[in-house]
Amino acid sequence: MKEFYYRAPKIELHCHLDGSISPEMIRKIYGLSSTPLDLTDEELLGKVVAPERCENLTEYLSCFPMVTSVLNTPTALKLALMDVMEQASRENVLYQEIRFSPKHLATETFSMEAVIDSLVQAKKELEGNYSVAVGLIACCMRGQSEETNIEVIRLAKKYHLAGVDLAGDELKYPTKEFKNVFLFAEKSGMPYTIHAGETGNLENVKDAIEFGAKRIGHGIALAQDQSMMEYVAKQEILLEMCPVCNIQTGAAKSWQEYPVTVFDEIGVKYCFNTDNRTVSNTTLTREFTEVATHKQVINEEKVKAQTLQAIDYLFISETEKASLRNQVAHFYA
Ligand SMILES: [Zn+2]
Repeated sequence: MKEFYYRAPKIELHCHLDGSISPEMIRKIYGLSSTPLDLTDEELLGKVVAPERCENLTEYLSCFPMVTSVLNTPTALKLALMDVMEQASRENVLYQEIRFSPKHLATETFSMEAVIDSLVQAKKELEGNYSVAVGLIACCMRGQSEETNIEVIRLAKKYHLAGVDLAGDELKYPTKEFKNVFLFAEKSGMPYTIHAGETGNLENVKDAIEFGAKRIGHGIALAQDQSMMEYVAKQEILLEMCPVCNIQTGAAKSWQEYPVTVFDEIGVKYCFNTDNRTVSNTTLTREFTEVATHKQVINEEKVKAQTLQAIDYLFISETEKASLRNQVAHFYA
């Protein structure tokens, strides 16, 4: 089936720009900076690809700073976006929502607005060159001030981004602290998704739902609670699941415990995503393949159903969704 997973048109809702740039492109971007890399290919891989089983989330997150610290020019951001779009096109992703934290990529001389403006320009210039279309999502961060998060949303609105997100350490900064941030997103008419329940905290998922999120990043903590799963199924909330990453970081202890089967039984909606293509050494093709290998059969019909469902939840217009559905129908005709 791997060949089919590769060939089939796919949709990706949850992919972080900084965690998905290929090592070759990271080297190229460094080459254009004032501090070229002095690492062999093997050393570079060791720094930007996390081990298959990390000790903890901290070990996983240690792969990011080296990349984010060099993405602070329009050229670097364009090359980064180009690289991720190329990877997605190569495995037949039709539409990919790519997220980034403006604050993490900004510096004293390169503002959050410059980060967003650069990516919007890059998207415009690149989109015709690849078969994948892209929606940009700006991440608010749990560790940053309310003022900064509100500014992220304001800028996302100004630059007509697809949506906003909340990412970062959910144990240290619980979702409930971000009520005002999402009230502002709601008021601004910015669609949003929230990372919640990645590291076992169900309260964060509950609060995200209370704040009106129709999409939850990861959300696997839901599997702890039958009535919450039923509620999420009834409310038609979609989980953006990232299987390989969840196993890697220990968010799910094993494939055996990975909750796709119980979600299917109860009718909780989900779709597969890479989260971080480079840090997790994955592709959407690999995500389907791993779940199919370790958990359950994913036949052609299921791939099609999941793809059509993911389209329903994209942060785009109904016209754009209809066009994507046509492309999927064409493939399966
Ligand atoms: Zn994520």
